[in-house]
Amino acid sequence: MTAAIIDGKAFAVTVREKVAGHVARLVEEHGITPGLAVVLVGEDPASQVYVRNKGKQTKEVGMLSVEHRLADTTSEEDLLALIDQLNKDPKIHGILVQLPLPDQLDSDLVINSIDPAKDVDGFHISNVGLLGTGQKSMVPCTPLGCLMMLRDTHGSLSGLNAVVVGRSNIVGKPMAQLLLGDSCTVTIAHSRTKDLAEVCRGADILVAAVGRPQMIPGDWVKPGATVIDVGINRIPKEDGKSRLVGDMDFASAVQVAGAITPVPGGVGPMTIACLLANTVTACCRANGLPEPEGLTV
Ligand code: NAP
Repeated sequence: MTAAIIDGKAFAVTVREKVAGHVARLVEEHGITPGLAVVLVGEDPASQVYVRNKGKQTKEVGMLSVEHRLADTTSEEDLLALIDQLNKDPKIHGILVQLPLPDQLDSDLVINSIDPAKDVDGFHISNVGLLGTGQKSMVPCTPLGCLMMLRDTHGSLSGLNAVVVGRSNIVGKPMAQLLLGDSCTVTIAHSRTKDLAEVCRGADILVAAVGRPQMIPGDWVKPGATVIDVGINRIPKEDGKSRLVGDMDFASAVQVAGAITPVPGGVGPMTIACLLANTVTACCRANGLPEPEGLTV
């Protein structure tokens, strides 16, 4: 058996098209342009690429894109002052502070200074609490994208055994909350989990969010399971260049799974699409308008 490939790149196009349709409607019917502000502190090359892509895609769907690039020596006081200004700016509906931040800045303090209604990354402690208690929140983009693909693959997730490998605040934990919200029976595994292979073999849905290249082989996958590979790892190639791989050993997993996301082209493209979706949702909520269906949980 060879798994169906879940095409995150194509899925992200449909999400962005939906977002663009809602943006056009907001502009036409209400004179409102959703606005996203991205704050980048420092010169981290990967972060610069992410921020550039976010800005480009924000503009492509017709939203206002604002970028603030600050020196890596920026003080906490100056960064908090900028966030305060963005919190008060009625043209800005979503604020994203690109992580990681330089060492002198306290990430938790910075993230928790964002107005929770504009926290389109969903990392503010209020949004974490709202998600954990099943209330309306801003949902972290990467797990939201994974959930959208799982719902599209399965329809209902109710009663399925889901295993999330990884317990980070940005992927593993919110992913587990979303799966629980959709009535899966959820196991969160991590570096101290005993007999991880057996735990994974019980999964109808296996989400790998570990950050270890090709760690999970096909013989840890239950035949027919749906596998979501969140990992993005760069490994060297023989020619001296490098390539991206996930946390799954794709070649063996694709032989066993029922459906699987590739790396690249799976979860990655969905993350920015969900950031745009969250910005439209935040804009509608801020203006007391009904929020678009299918763009959040
Ligand atoms: P992270 O904060 O480093 O967390 C990794 C998690 O994996 C931790 O909970 C850790 O357990 C667990 N882990 C590490 N080694 C393990 C092992 N041998 N067995 C079982 N569990 C193990 O990473 P993250 O931020 O969640 O990111 C995970 C991966 O997703 C990375 O490759 C990252 O690049 C990727 N990512 C992709 C996107 C996207 O848009 N596609 C977005 C975010 C992240 P402990 O807690 O016990 O240490």
